[in-house]
Amino acid sequence: MSDYDVIVIGAGCGGVTAGALLAGQGRSVLVLEQSDLLGGCCSTFEKDGYHFDVGATLLEFPLPVDAVFQRLGTTFADEVDLIDVDPVYNVVFDDGSRMLFPQSPDGTGEVISQLSAKDGRNWPRFAAMFEDFLDKALSGFFMKPAGTMGDMVRMMVETPGLLKFGPLFVKSYKDVIEKYFKNNKVQQSMAYQSFYSGLPPGLAPALLSFLAYSEHQGLFYPRGGMISVPAAIARCGEKEGMKVELKKRVDRVLVSGGRARGVRLSDGTEITSDVVVSDINARALYLDLVGEEHLHPLARAGIKSYTLSVSAPVIYAGVDYEPPLGAHHTLVTVPMEDLDDYWFNQYQKGLLPEKLFGLICCGTVSDPALAPEGHHVLNIILGGPYRLSGSDWDTERKALGERVIEQLSKNVIPGLSEHVKTIEVATPLDFERRLLMPEGAFLALEMNLLSLTAFRPSARSRSVKGLYLAGASTHPGGGVPTTISTGMIAADLIDRYEG
Ligand SMILES: Cc1cc2nc3c(=O)[nH]c(=O)nc-3n(C[C@H](O)[C@H](O)[C@H](O)COP(=O)(O)OP(=O)(O)OC[C@H]3O[C@@H](n4cnc5c(N)ncnc54)[C@H](O)[C@@H]3O)c2cc1C
Repeated sequence: MSDYDVIVIGAGCGGVTAGALLAGQGRSVLVLEQSDLLGGCCSTFEKDGYHFDVGATLLEFPLPVDAVFQRLGTTFADEVDLIDVDPVYNVVFDDGSRMLFPQSPDGTGEVISQLSAKDGRNWPRFAAMFEDFLDKALSGFFMKPAGTMGDMVRMMVETPGLLKFGPLFVKSYKDVIEKYFKNNKVQQSMAYQSFYSGLPPGLAPALLSFLAYSEHQGLFYPRGGMISVPAAIARCGEKEGMKVELKKRVDRVLVSGGRARGVRLSDGTEITSDVVVSDINARALYLDLVGEEHLHPLARAGIKSYTLSVSAPVIYAGVDYEPPLGAHHTLVTVPMEDLDDYWFNQYQKGLLPEKLFGLICCGTVSDPALAPEGHHVLNIILGGPYRLSGSDWDTERKALGERVIEQLSKNVIPGLSEHVKTIEVATPLDFERRLLMPEGAFLALEMNLLSLTAFRPSARSRSVKGLYLAGASTHPGGGVPTTISTGMIAADLIDRYEG
């Protein structure tokens, strides 16, 4: 007799979702989280009276999230106060000019028309294509297992409308943007979003170019910070009997006879269970926690073949004035080709970008209570390699923070450097240390074409019976709503295969 029906490793979005739904199925569930906070990358911490989001700063396509709450007998809107985010961006172009992009697709078309009448005319076609895609994909692709070719065929049979989007599997994000938009600034305003999938526009699969549209379908910020989402799911799970224990690090998945039997904690305690769900990076799961000796040689080679995703250094700054940004998100952009150029000529050589680009989030634009009255919080999200050429992140951390604040003060956020009251820089190494994310890979495994759908590690392990995967390592991959989907998929598979 096991201690629990299910043990979940990691209380990120995928982990708490799987745990809550499995508790709702009447199973005894224990979620073990090594840090002192719920939510992993979708969490919020307090420093000197300012509340900063750890990673994720916005939520789009809430349909899978609402589906989870409905299965838990409630609704997303009843559990979390969702603030509508409009405009979606203030875009700062490389020549210093700015443009606000509203949430409404029609309003966005008007903004694009100011830059190029022809591109403005093409926007409705682009928007209609991805509206149609998301309409089918949200329930038919993002919420269904894709671990085997059989799953993929089933998905297409159930949602045949997805088939016409086949060409999006063979082109790049950049191909799609260039097909619809010719103006440099219009392209710039949509190119950076390819990094939401962890890749530059030339490498990101065309399928992911919906990211340049999806925020216009609805964009939300949960009051109280991003942690409010996993905290609400955990709260519902706890009502069903799910237990969450923080500061409990799992060092080993117990495997015997080819089946997961529980876990061993870093203090040596062993806890048994019939099923284990992992919400952690799949490479770390299989190579460190399960152990190579339990993997078939092909599975061993397979898991080693995955490239870890890009990491994202973040500067958290609390300021005592209103930064002149005018939107929850500000995109500091460069021309689309420069993003590919950065990837190949700087990122892959261990260098930081020469031209500053990235995403600035001012969460207090949506929820002023994140900071003391009259103060604001800024998350400055950059790109950067894990291994730095000729240096290391512990050496570079302070200088990076100072350099970026100084550069932004000149071009993007006048007055910033005089108003910073508190600052913290989280490097890829810090993400690795705090959340045990190998190399700080914020989407776990690269989201290239050969690591998506059936090519991503399967939600139902083929190497170890009774082991299931949730989180960014498995289909449909990284992102808050998508990892919440992974938790739902894992719970469905366990319901189907584990009695
Ligand atoms: C800077 C940044 C910005 C982002 N912006 C957005 C955004 O705006 N919108 C969006 O949708 N997504 C965004 N994302 C992506 C999104 O936050 C993640 O893809 C998602 O939250 C990951 O969820 P997960 O279930 O994979 O778990 P994770 O968040 O990876 O959590 C895994 C948990 O497991 C714990 N853990 C690890 N190892 C162990 C162990 N051995 N024992 C016990 N516990 C363990 C960790 O401490 C962690 O809490 C962003 C991410 C980052 C880093």
